[in-house]
Amino acid sequence: EANIHLSVRVARLGSRYILLLAEDRTESFRLEQVRRDFVANISHELKTPIGAVGLLAEALDSASEDPEQVRRFAHRLTEESQRLARITQDIIELSRLQAADALTDAEIVSVKQVITSAVDQNRVAAEARGIELAMRGDKRAEVYGDEALLVTAVHNLVSNAIQYSPAGSRVGIGVRIVDGVVEIAVTDQGEGIPEDDLDRVFERFFRVDQARSRHTGGTGLGLAIVKHAVQNHGGDIRVWSQPGRGSTFTIRLPEASHDAAVRPAIGETT
Ligand code: ADP
Repeated sequence: EANIHLSVRVARLGSRYILLLAEDRTESFRLEQVRRDFVANISHELKTPIGAVGLLAEALDSASEDPEQVRRFAHRLTEESQRLARITQDIIELSRLQAADALTDAEIVSVKQVITSAVDQNRVAAEARGIELAMRGDKRAEVYGDEALLVTAVHNLVSNAIQYSPAGSRVGIGVRIVDGVVEIAVTDQGEGIPEDDLDRVFERFFRVDQARSRHTGGTGLGLAIVKHAVQNHGGDIRVWSQPGRGSTFTIRLPEASHDAAVRPAIGETT
């Protein structure tokens, strides 16, 4: 988009001069557009489960004679309301991350601890599909940040890796330190991501396969949350993927320094 938005003000200075003030408002127009899209997306995403809850409640009402039907509708009703709760939770988390321009509870955090918590949260899901979770790498790596937020970020990556991989495959979580940067890489042997979509997977509500992600209960916000959480820590996230072979998502964070004077200025979101 090559649209440039200028706000222009004209003032007359005496009879011979006019003053022309032009302000480049392209960026604020862009941000306003992003905000509007987000609100439109949220409405769209909420419409389906809210509609389903209404229909199921009606169906339940008229199915009261048949216990088997009642059970089925009640089960679906629970699923749809859980879905609504998940979407709401993710929207709140993402809005909070976007609004925050600094971390409030930053401390020195053990990366091993972060990964252990994230893996523990995903153990049941992995076992259910016979997927092996393997951690390896530098056990002493430390970063400066918000532990809970970092656990959420790694959790989302591991949960996706399990979600988009075949039963019986392997998910690896590796840590290494390269030139003062801690890299946490989550690798799967899953379906991979088409090249054209690689740039877009971090966008809010973007899914490679809309119907499938909704069906499996994904909110489409997981990677957007990871991206913002990592950016709030002064880091970034990259993805490598090959359809049919698998994907690797790599979070890169500044290594913690125990010397407070050289701590990175974190919280610069873009
Ligand atoms: P979702 O809730 O749909 O998983 P995410 O933001 O976590 O939302 O991911 C966005 C999309 O990126 C997913 O719908 C999926 O198409 C793709 N994706 C994410 N992680 C992986 C992965 N490990 N392997 C293949 N595709 C992935």
